[in-house]
Amino acid sequence: MARRILAAGNWKMNKTPSETTALINEMKPVVASDDVDVLLCVPAIDIPAAVEAAKGSNIQIGAENLYYEEKGAYTGEIAPDMLVDAGVTHVIIGHSERRGYFGETDEQVNKKIKKALEHGLVPVMCCGESLEQREQGVTMDWIRMQVKIGFQDLTADEAKKVIVAYEPIWAIGTGKTATSDQAEEVCKGIRDLLRELYGDDVAETTRVLYGGSVNPGNAAELFAKPDIDGGLVGGASLKTSFGEIVHYNK
Ligand code: PEP
Repeated sequence: MARRILAAGNWKMNKTPSETTALINEMKPVVASDDVDVLLCVPAIDIPAAVEAAKGSNIQIGAENLYYEEKGAYTGEIAPDMLVDAGVTHVIIGHSERRGYFGETDEQVNKKIKKALEHGLVPVMCCGESLEQREQGVTMDWIRMQVKIGFQDLTADEAKKVIVAYEPIWAIGTGKTATSDQAEEVCKGIRDLLRELYGDDVAETTRVLYGGSVNPGNAAELFAKPDIDGGLVGGASLKTSFGEIVHYNK
């Protein structure tokens, strides 16, 4: 079965709950699609407003993070049950901003992925190299390490539920997109690694997204690549023109 394209937005820390309601109401008609899956990941405090506004539409609501314990004395953290109860279906894990600003490690990413899966949440696991690493020629070594540790101890059935987002750090929020060939090369490398670790079924089922300055002008070329199954979109998911990314093939 062909993998469905996913247009996933990452709103980061940009909208209040009332702004969330207004933007999702504007988005609903323009992102309606039978062919492409649509996901908007929003800050925890915006989740109830987002879930309510998205009701009856094809928009799924995701979180931008979760904690890997069930409950307890973890001030400021959000437990998986809380997300599930609030109506969230997906959760971004290991975004480069969390790794870079908040010191998130590959081991924590692995714990978070396992915890998300335990609760029926779909993890969107981010990986990506810095510009320095690309210039040193270690991109694929780095990505393989991030994915290998992120997927540590997952069964094949668990592994194919994870969505991997390849996001070169130098392309995030910079307006610099990886060329479609650069993006395809790494996304294919991730699929090859999944094949090595789990075999053909997982490699062919798992969705691998590209993220890094995806916009209405470059989505079609990126999503046409055989190993790119959609995008994780930051800045361009905060505007109704996100609909043009969803309808990239029109
Ligand atoms: C992101 O936040 O995951 C991202 C890719 O951002 P942008 O599209 O703005 O580069």
